[in-house]
Amino acid sequence: MPERGGDGDLSVRFWGTRGSLPMPGPDTVVYGGNTCCVEVRLGTRLFIIDAGSGLEAAGRSLPGTARIDLLLSHLHHDHVSGLPFFSPILKEKGSLRIFCGNQGGASAKAALDSMFAPPLFPVTLDVLPGSIEHVGFRAGETLSFEDGVRVATCPLRHPGGATAYRFDHGGRRVCYVSDMEHLDAGPDLDVVNFCRGADLVIYDAMFTESELPRCRGWGHSTWNAGVELCRAAGARTLAAFHHHKGHDDAALAGIEASLAAALPGSFVAREGQTLVYRARQAAVAAAQEA
Ligand SMILES: [Zn+2]
Ligand SMILES: [Zn+2]
Repeated sequence: MPERGGDGDLSVRFWGTRGSLPMPGPDTVVYGGNTCCVEVRLGTRLFIIDAGSGLEAAGRSLPGTARIDLLLSHLHHDHVSGLPFFSPILKEKGSLRIFCGNQGGASAKAALDSMFAPPLFPVTLDVLPGSIEHVGFRAGETLSFEDGVRVATCPLRHPGGATAYRFDHGGRRVCYVSDMEHLDAGPDLDVVNFCRGADLVIYDAMFTESELPRCRGWGHSTWNAGVELCRAAGARTLAAFHHHKGHDDAALAGIEASLAAALPGSFVAREGQTLVYRARQAAVAAAQEA
């Protein structure tokens, strides 16, 4: 794993890359079986994006006293199912702030309280020893944090809505764009502007072009549309993300070869993969290692 944590570095670690449903097993060991969870560090400043089943392993990597800011793209199961298993809220001194964007600006508390309660779940989240705070906002607002860090957001085309997040640090830019359905007419200009000049766009590439026609309206996209978006935005690389439950390692390796040929440096995100983008002034290319 590349060394992380330099003040100027922007780093990304994939804890869960799958969409819809965890798919552990011998056919998913390369690209991963856990659902959406990504760690982003601006220097030492940590954000976790989405709380799919990958969140459990992310939590084990963190101290129990951690105060964590979790940014949710939306509330579908594959983005929140790891929440009650996140170790920082299983310890007395841990605390979690959950940010959720939507059209109305309401927090996610009511929805998560109904999802994690009997008979759907054995306990409610408020019995966990750590503290949980909910913050709602309108997708499209820029989030401002106490330490001066700002994170831009953008609403996405998805059933019930979803929120994209953009991280800028050390002259580097990483965008998290999942879940999203693209338009036939070409890239959504709001999303293009949001991703302008990004070093990396983490993108909902759940379907192939041949699968898409029968899955229109399900709220997901293809790597081909992601490449179009990157080209329109002048973004350098794409990480195909939110892998289809039926795409095994062999299928994803094939997609990765085509993707890297279309937009060099692009790849299919792998669980456990870490990328470090050194500050621009350091003039060191991004390191990439599985
Ligand atoms: Zn999803
Ligand atoms: Zn979704």
